[in-house]
Formats: sequence, C-alpha cells, structure tokens
Amino acid sequence: MESLLIGPATRKQAACAGTSALLVLLALAIAAPQARQPLSPVGPFMPMCALTVFTTSGIAAFLLGARFAVTQRPMLCALGGAYAFTAITVALQLLMFPGVFSHTGLLGARPNSAAWMWVFWHGGFPLLVAVAMLLRDQSIDGSPAGRFRFHEWTLTLIGMPAVLAAVLGVFAANANLSAPFYPMTDIDSARISPTALVVCLLDAFAIVLVLVKGRLRSVLDLWITIALLASFVDASLNMLSVGRFTVGWYVARIFSMLAPGVLVGVLIWEVTVLYRQLAEAHASLLQTSTHDALTGVYNRHYFDEQFRRDFDRARLHRRPLSLVMVDIDNFKAYNDAFGHPRGDACLRAVAEALAQTARRAGEYVARYGGEEFVIVLPGSELDDATTRAEQARNAVIAIGLTAPGPGGRVTVSAGCACSEGSEPSNASELLDGADAALYAAKRAGRNRVERVAVIDRG
Ligand code: GH3
Ligand code: MG
Ligand code: MG
Repeated sequence: MESLLIGPATRKQAACAGTSALLVLLALAIAAPQARQPLSPVGPFMPMCALTVFTTSGIAAFLLGARFAVTQRPMLCALGGAYAFTAITVALQLLMFPGVFSHTGLLGARPNSAAWMWVFWHGGFPLLVAVAMLLRDQSIDGSPAGRFRFHEWTLTLIGMPAVLAAVLGVFAANANLSAPFYPMTDIDSARISPTALVVCLLDAFAIVLVLVKGRLRSVLDLWITIALLASFVDASLNMLSVGRFTVGWYVARIFSMLAPGVLVGVLIWEVTVLYRQLAEAHASLLQTSTHDALTGVYNRHYFDEQFRRDFDRARLHRRPLSLVMVDIDNFKAYNDAFGHPRGDACLRAVAEALAQTARRAGEYVARYGGEEFVIVLPGSELDDATTRAEQARNAVIAIGLTAPGPGGRVTVSAGCACSEGSEPSNASELLDGADAALYAAKRAGRNRVERVAVIDRG
C-alpha cells in the first residue's frame, strides 16, 4: 500500500511548504543580527522545549515505524530511526543538563556532557535523514524472505540509532571532553565555534541531498526539507548566540521543537485524510452492498436480511407487518419491442414510482429480482396495505410509459399479505402469501391488486 506521505505533492501542499520555508528563513534573517542580545532568563524554558522535542520525536519515530510496517519502504523506517535518535539524545541532554534535575546534572554528567549531547543530537539527526534519503527507492516485498528483511531493517534502521544515542550518552557522561563551543565569556567575540559550524554544514548537506534525491516531488520531501531547515536555523542561531537566554538561544529552542513537530503534523494530517477516505469508502461499500445498482432501491440481499428482522420485531411488539409484491406486466414484450436499455430505464422509473409510495418510517422498497419489487410496510394492516398497493399501481400508470400491448401503458400487478398475531409463523410464509396474491392478480388479468388475508388464529 502506498502512503499519502510518499505520494506526489499537490500544488497547494508545495505552496504551503514553500511559504513555511520562507517564514523559517525570514525568522533566521530577523533573529541572526540580534542573536547575542540578552533577554530575561526563563529557567523552565529549556526543559520545557527539550520535553516537547522528546515527546514529538518519540511520536514521529513511532508513526514512521508504523508507516514502514504498512508501506514496506525502508526510507520511512530510517526516518523513524532519525527521530528515535533525536528523542533519546534530547532526553539524555535534559537529564545531564546542569541545574535541571540536579545542580551538576544526572547520570554522573560532567560540565560539558549536556553540550556534547546537543552536538550529537544536532549532528546525528541530519546524518540519519541523509541515510533515509539514500534508501529512498528501496522497498521490500511481502515474501517470507522479505518479511525477515523487514525485521532486519527495523533493527538496523531504528534499533541501531537508538543504541548509538545511548552509547553517545554514556560517552558524553564519562569522557573528559572539552567544551564543544567557545565559553560564554567569549560572548563579545566574533569567532564561530567549529563544532557548531560542522553541525550547520551537516544540516545543509542533508537539505541538499533531500533536494537532489527527492526534487520536492512527494509530501515527505517537502516537509522533511522544512524539518531540516528548522534544524539548520536552530543550529545556526545556537552558533551565533553563544550564551544562554539570548534572542538567538530562545529562537533556536523554538526551532528545535519545529523539526520533529512539523513531521508529526504531517503524519497526523495523513491519518486524518486516510480516516476521511476510509469513512467514505465504508459508506460507499455499504451503499453498494445494500442497494440495487440499476434502480437505486434496496437489493435482494438487504431485503432478505432486513425482512426477517422486521418480521421478528413485528411479532415481538404484536404489530402488523404487510408485504406487497409487485411485478411489471408483460415486461418481456416491452424489452422485445424497445430493447433492453429502454427496459432498464423503465425499471428505474417504476422503482422510483414505487419508492414514492413507501415513505413512512420503517417502510422501504427492494428489488426482489428481474422486474419484481417488494414494498415492506411495518405497522400497516391488510386494508391499509391494499390501499397503498393501489396507490403504487396508479403511480406506475401515472409515469405514462408507452407499452406495446393492448393497454398501451406500462402497468404493474401487486399481491398483498399481512402478518398479525402468530400467523404466519415465519417471514417466508408471509412472502409466499404475497407471491400467491400476485399470481392471483396476474391470473385475473394483470394491472390489479389482490390480497391474501392471513388470519390470526393465535
Ligand atoms: P408477466 O406479466 O407475467 O409478469 O410477464 P413478463 O413478461 O413481465 O414476465 P416474464 O417473466 O416472462 O419476463 C420478465 C422479463 O423481465 C424477462 C427479462 O428479460 C426481463 N428482465 C429481467 N431483469 C431485467 C433487467 O434487469 N433489465 C431488463 N431490461 N429486463 C429485465
Ligand atoms: Mg412481469
Ligand atoms: Mg416476474
């Protein structure tokens, strides 16, 4: 099954993504010159952002992994791996961050551990997205070997990045690493940290790769580019701001949430569209499985199921249930004279006329077969049903369709039967009664209504 995510993007989606890209770059252009401008410190801001990144990345990883299971496209699994890596590195960074859970950070963190986790998070994400792009055209089949490879892909593309993130966490916590960026005392220096520059270049490299490999054809191409752009702006502003609680630092944190957030948004959009399509498909399936394709009234299958239920309900509530069986007179001659396409049109017109006469709650018309219809009238006694059958017969005459026989008009014959009390004992006996009455109407010369009374002996 193809996913909407890897399907072609519409012009509207491309325009939406293009506008988003412009807004992201505009935010960078506005924030960059004042990146080092200090703002009031808001202590919980960083943990709040990190928690958001952790949650959204975890959701993105799960949803992309689930898409891989459905679409069998390893690229989606690799992207899931990129987000799983992000979720774990950001969680470790948060735990190790000095002053969040403890003064020096948890997990035996050293002074530079959290900063290095930031580097691993921001460097690893674009690299893993690049791996996903290299797998863009891969797909696995549904054979047993293919299914085996499915597990291999999952372990490799999601398991390995997750393990790598954990290993990097252990490394950052235990290795005696020097600061990845220039210390905050260098706030007035115009120097750019080489580590931050490498991270920016990795983002730029991944963006170029997405553009070259995908050429912005699919929905995923568009939005993964925006996610990478957000990651690039995040890294750039971090590089320019140097210290915490500056304009650049705050804006960078916001963009760090955008990188996974944008993908989660697109994945939720996909689920919503698919849900709508599923609801429409279900409604259309229900319509075709219960309605006659030619005439639009209920079909025989629906009648067989529903009529039994109507019968049981009528007996349970001790209410009458009437059935009128209707058959077009001399329809073979009509077909012979005018051809089957006009015969079909006649069937449609007759069905519509009959449907007009069964409009009370619970009443319906079904095509029983060929040129025979049934009208089900819950709550109607035999007299009422006979009157309604007469109305139906007159409604067909009123259509005014020319017939080849002596009368010159298309007519119908009808047989009515009604169940009351304990008679008849089942739905087919009631059907037999209406059928017998219909044959009586045919024998009596057609274009008439006959009735069979079912006497309550209960
Ligand atoms: P009677 O008055 O005794 O009912 O005669 P009749 O000619 O209507 O009955 P008969 O059973 O001899 O012929 C029924 C005809 O209905 C034959 C068949 O070709 C036609 N028919 C059945 N289903 C369709 C359909 O879906 N489309 C068309 N055009 N004709 C159909
Ligand atoms: Mg007939
Ligand atoms: Mg017939």
